[in-house]
Amino acid sequence: MYEEMTSLERCIATIRLQPHDRVPVDLHNFMMTLIGSNLPPMKLYTDGQLLGEAQVAAWKRFGHDMLVVENGTGALAEACGCKVSYLPGSAPVIEGHLLGDLAEVSKLKMPDPWKSPLCRAALEATRLVLDQLGDQVFVMGRADQGPFSLACMIAGPETLMIEMAAGEEDTHIFELLEYTSDAYILYARLFKEMGCPGTSAGEAQGSPDVISPAMYEKYCLPFAKKIVRALQSDDFSLAYHICGNTTRIIDRMTQTGASILEFDYKCDKAKAKKATAGKTTLLGPIDPSGVLHEGSIQDVERACREALEVLAPGGGFILGPGCALPRTTPPENIDKLIECARVYGQY
Ligand SMILES: [Zn+2]
Repeated sequence: MYEEMTSLERCIATIRLQPHDRVPVDLHNFMMTLIGSNLPPMKLYTDGQLLGEAQVAAWKRFGHDMLVVENGTGALAEACGCKVSYLPGSAPVIEGHLLGDLAEVSKLKMPDPWKSPLCRAALEATRLVLDQLGDQVFVMGRADQGPFSLACMIAGPETLMIEMAAGEEDTHIFELLEYTSDAYILYARLFKEMGCPGTSAGEAQGSPDVISPAMYEKYCLPFAKKIVRALQSDDFSLAYHICGNTTRIIDRMTQTGASILEFDYKCDKAKAKKATAGKTTLLGPIDPSGVLHEGSIQDVERACREALEVLAPGGGFILGPGCALPRTTPPENIDKLIECARVYGQY
C-alpha cells in the first residue's frame, strides 16, 4: 500500500495516471448542498458566497476528494443571452431559445461571465472554495455547458437536430459551434486563471441517447478537441461529461484528449475501462437517482463494489455519481459511497 496522500495529491496522481494510495471520490452535489436553505431559487443560485460556503460545509461533513462547484446547466447560456427560469426545487433552466433562425448566428456576442448573474456566482463560489480548501482538495470549477449542448440551448435543440438531419445549414451550424466553443473557452479560462486544477464541459446532448454516433463525430468531437487543445495543460484538466449510454462513443470520447471522462451507469463499464486504460481517467458511474437517491445503503455498496472491481485496477478511476445528485439524496448513502472508496479502492 502507498503512503496516504492528501485529496489533492490523490486526484492529481490519478489524473496523471501515476501511482496513488486509493481511488478518490467526487460528489456532484451542488443541489444537495443547498437543501437546508429556504431562499427562493433566484436568490439561492446567484449568491456566490452562499454556494461556496455550502460546498465547504458539505466537504466538512463528507470529506470527499474532489469538489464540483457549479450552479446548474444554464450559467453560460445565460451569459450568451438566453433567458433563465427559476423553478422551485430545481436548478435554473434555460427557457426557450435565443435564435429565431440559424442565420442570426452572426449577431451573437461573446459573453462577459463576470457581468452575468449565474456565471458570476459560480466564479465567486469557486474562488471562495479555492481560498479555503484549494491546498488540500481538488476544486473543479465547472464551466458547463460544452459547445454542442450550449449550441442546443442557443438555437433550440429541435431546430438544431432537424437542420443537422437535413444537412443544408452546416455553414451556420459550424459557425454556431465555433462561437459556442469560443464562449466556453473564454469562461473556462477564468477558472484556470483563478487557480483551479480543473474544469468540466457537459455535453449531455451529444449522448447516443440523443444523437447518433455519426452526428457526434461530425458536430461534437471536433469542438471537444478544440476546447481541450485550448485549455488543457499539465496543471489543468478538462473533465468531459456525457451521460446516458455512451458505450458506442466511449472510444471517440477518449480521442478528445480530455484527461477526465465523466460517464454514467448506463455505459458498459468493462468496455469503458478497455477504451480508456492507460489513456485517460474515468469519473462516475454510480446512478445518482436509482442508487444514491432512492437505493438502500446495501444498494450503494453493491454498485460501488461492482464499479471498483472493474474500473479501479491500474488506476485512472475516480468514484462518484455519473451525473448531478438530487437535492434530497440521503447523506448515509453518500457516507457509504466514500467508505467504499476507502475500504475497497485501496492500491
Ligand atoms: Zn449528466
